[in-house]
Order: sequence, then structure tokens, then C-alpha cells
Amino acid sequence: MSERMHNFSAGPCTLPLSVLEEAQAEFVDYQGAGMSLIEMSHRGKQFVAVHEEAVELVRSVYGVPRDFDVLFLQGGATLQFAMVPMNLLGEGRKGGYVNSGSWGKGAITDAQPYGEIYTAWDGAECNYTRMPESGELEIQPGSRYLHITSNETIGGVRFRDWPQVEVPLVADMSSDYMSRPIPWESFDLVYGGVQKNLGPAGMAMVIVRKTAIEDNNRDIARYLRYDIHSDKGSMFNTPPVFPIYILGKVLKWMQGRGGIEAVAREAEAKADILYQAIDTSDGYYHCPVDVESRSVMNVVFRLPSEDLEKSFLTQAGEEKLLNLKGHRSVGGCRASIYNAMPREGVQALADFMATFRLAHPG
Ligand SMILES: *Cc1c(COP(=O)(O)O)cnc(C)c1O
Repeated sequence: MSERMHNFSAGPCTLPLSVLEEAQAEFVDYQGAGMSLIEMSHRGKQFVAVHEEAVELVRSVYGVPRDFDVLFLQGGATLQFAMVPMNLLGEGRKGGYVNSGSWGKGAITDAQPYGEIYTAWDGAECNYTRMPESGELEIQPGSRYLHITSNETIGGVRFRDWPQVEVPLVADMSSDYMSRPIPWESFDLVYGGVQKNLGPAGMAMVIVRKTAIEDNNRDIARYLRYDIHSDKGSMFNTPPVFPIYILGKVLKWMQGRGGIEAVAREAEAKADILYQAIDTSDGYYHCPVDVESRSVMNVVFRLPSEDLEKSFLTQAGEEKLLNLKGHRSVGGCRASIYNAMPREGVQALADFMATFRLAHPG
């Protein structure tokens, strides 16, 4: 095999090598069945076992309470932007939204047709460089939920502390899913595409409080109804079998690393390495995000000029440090360091940042 790169892609992104190798080893002939897992009926006993194990692993690794359902759905996080209000709102029902950047804005846009949508806090005034304090949130009486984006993947901004509010939280957790424990009592629903922290592209994982969907809207297509997916144990139609299978392996890998608390500590340690590299560079590298809101998953930074940024990206590539270009909408650089990014990869980037700065004074 060619040498493995340090892949800082924002998603799809790096996965644990051991998981890839395990999947490779059993890909063609799954446990002596004479066929691949992706060739089997999703209702056969082998896949059903894989599916059930994945759900149980999500529950045990993430500490999901029994009164929540774990659903594996298609359409990515993007479809959830619409499914959440379609199910939980409806005429005359209100949903509050935090506009914390590109993804928060996407959620607001897609919710508009399905209820009374309002912005409880708008990050536009600070150019999306921080998350709000609880006291800044303007929650209207009668709101069904407050929707937040726990980590803005493009802006590199995250909620370090969860909002303390009177209404249930609904959260798009795509880019920091299962990177830290969460206070389940505050949430009615969390969702995210799994292709950042947890597996390959092609699936969203929705974890929803059962009582929150007891009276969800039934006046929509069956696939869009949480209650149906819940009743059918996420087997209403053919589920995304390959992502579910890999998700199970990633979760076992997480268990082997010491579970979610250990993964969270490692994430903080990795992010510290990069923020240190930025903060000790005498302003050569600059992170536009407020210290309190700095993302632990997507570290964004600028160099003194766009020309230097270009050289930085090119030379980083020569050192096997790939996909460090910031999102096209904001420019600059971004290192996505999800759960599966090894600490050595992060250290290699920090070392390269120091070397580059000395070789190219601003
Ligand atoms: C990647 C991402 C999305 C979009 O996810 P898809 O699965 O591609 O629909 C939504 N929200 C956040 C925060 C993301 O990082």
C-alpha cells in the first residue's frame, strides 16, 4: 500500500485504519457466508445482528437513555433540517433557531415552510466568531424547541457549554457527534451525518426522545415520519447497510480507546496542540474565533497573506498533510481533527506550522 496521508478533510474524512482493514478483510466473504455483507438481505439474521449491535453500541458508548430511539436514516443531516420541523412543528407551532453560521443558516432556511420559525440569536453581528451565552438567547413563549448547531464546521465555532433554557434543545451535531458526553435531559432530538466522526457518508443518525414524537405530524410521506421509523426499529425500508456496518466498527474502536470520556479528552488535547501553535506564533497564524468558542474539531486559521496561505497549503501537501484548505466560502486554512485523526497527525501539522513560519517570515 502507498503511504497513508494525514487527512484533515472536513468530511468525508479520515477513519480509523484498523476499521478499514477489518472491513477489507471480511468484505468479500462475511463470516463464512460466501457473500459480502452488502449483498445480503437487510432482514436476514446476519445483517439484523449487525444493525442491532450498532444501535446497542450507540446507546452504551454515548450513554443514550432508554426513553430515546436511535434511528439510522438517509438524506444526511440536510434532510433533517426539514424533517425536524416537519415532524415537530406544523401550523401555529413555533421553533427557535440559533444562527451560528453556514449550517445554522441552512437549518433555518429549510425549516421556514413548516412552522413559525424565528431566530433566537444571530451571529451575523459578530461575523459568526462566537456562540451565544444562554442569557443572550431570545426564546419566545410557546416555542416547541431551540435548534442549535453544536459545532459550526466551516466557521470553527462550537458551543463549549450547552445553552441553559426552558425549552428542549434540538441539535445538529454532525461535526462533533459523539466527541463528548452530552446532558440528555436537555435534549429532545440530536442528529447528524455520520461521515465526520463516525463512519462513511450516506447516513444520518437521529436520536430522539420517544415522547417528543408521540404526537408528531402524520400528514407527510411515510419516510419522513419519525414515528414510523421508530415503530419499525429503523427498518421501515432498506437501511443504509454499509454505513451501519462501519459505524458499528468505529464505535467498537471508540470503546477500545476508553469510551466517550477518553475520546473527549483526546479531542481537547489534539485541539490544544494546534491552538498552541497558533497562539505562540506572534500573530503569524491567526484564529478569528473567540477563545471560548473555538472548535475542538475544526481548527480554522489564517496566515499573514493569501499568497502565504497558498504556499502553506502546497508545501503542507508535500509533507503528506492534506485537505487543509478552508471552506471556499471563507478561505484561509482549516484542520479538521475528528475522533479518528491520530495525535501524531496533529503534531505533524503543528511541527510543520512552526517550520513554515521560520522559512517564510510575514
Ligand atoms: C456536514 C454538515 C452538514 C451536512 O451534512 P450532510 O450529511 O452532507 O447533509 C450539516 N450540518 C453540519 C454541522 C455539518 O458539518
